[in-house]
Amino acid sequence: MKTVDNPWTSLELKIARELFDNGASAQVIADTLPGRTRNSVIGMWHRQKWPARAPRGNDRKIKRYIKKNSTRNVKFPATPVKRKVIDIPIPVSLEVGILDLKPSTCRYPTTPDDASVHLFCGNRSASPIGSWCEYHQALVHKG
Ligand SMILES: [Zn+2]
Repeated sequence: MKTVDNPWTSLELKIARELFDNGASAQVIADTLPGRTRNSVIGMWHRQKWPARAPRGNDRKIKRYIKKNSTRNVKFPATPVKRKVIDIPIPVSLEVGILDLKPSTCRYPTTPDDASVHLFCGNRSASPIGSWCEYHQALVHKG
């Protein structure tokens, strides 16, 4: 039997599987796990007898997963998929009034110049208790 030089830890396998289940490519998984290459991911993929192809995933969901795990469960600094503000589509403001804001809606001000009342983005927050949607959160934390 062929020896595996650098065996996968259960943590790596857990992270890789979760990314895989969310449709991440071998490259994305490799980028997330320091020291792993796309080829080593594919090799592991076959040894674990995972399905040949994961369902096409939602990139935003994967990025959220990586972001969440890079600060909490993962012991090493995971390398997140490079994200720039411009990579996130600018959401269409729902122009929600201040009294209609809920804990789970984005409260980034989007008042048009000619409006007499303050209006807010109103899209779903990036996290259940977050103040901003994914785009505005990235914008706010940019600098
Ligand atoms: Zn927003």
